[in-house]
Amino acid sequence: MYRFSRAIYRDLAGDIIEDAHPGQSSNHERVLRACEAAIERLATDRHYFAHPARTLFADIRWYFPMNVQPRVLRVIECYLACADNALRQQPQNGYDVYGNPLHCRATTRKGAPCQRMPLPANGYCPSHQHLAETEEELLAA
Ligand SMILES: [Zn+2]
Repeated sequence: MYRFSRAIYRDLAGDIIEDAHPGQSSNHERVLRACEAAIERLATDRHYFAHPARTLFADIRWYFPMNVQPRVLRVIECYLACADNALRQQPQNGYDVYGNPLHCRATTRKGAPCQRMPLPANGYCPSHQHLAETEEELLAA
C-alpha cells in the first residue's frame, strides 16, 4: 500500500515549502508521514474513513504555497481513488493488505475454520456459497 503514499509524496515533493528552520522533522517528512497515515487508515478503516482526500488535504495544505493547493488536492484525490480501488480488489489475490491470507468465513463440519480462499463478493469459498445464499435469505426475510 505504501506505493500509493510514496506516489503522492513524489508528485508533491517539488512544491513543498522549505523549512525556515531545518530541524529533525522537516516539512518533507511531515507530508510523507501524513500521506502514509491516510493510506494506512484507508487500508484498515475504509468503511469509517468518510472523506479521505479532504482529510489528507486539510492535514498537508499548509506545507504548500496557495497557488499550487488546487493541484495538491487533485493529486491526493487521484491517488486515494486508485488506492481505494486497489483495496476493493484486494480479496481476489487471497491476502489482506498486510499479506495475511484470507480465509472463508465458514466453519467446517469438524468445527475448524474453513481454510479455503474466499470469493470477494461475500467472503465464502466456492464450496460454502450456499451459506451466503442462506444469509441473503435471512436478510431478506
Ligand atoms: Zn469454505
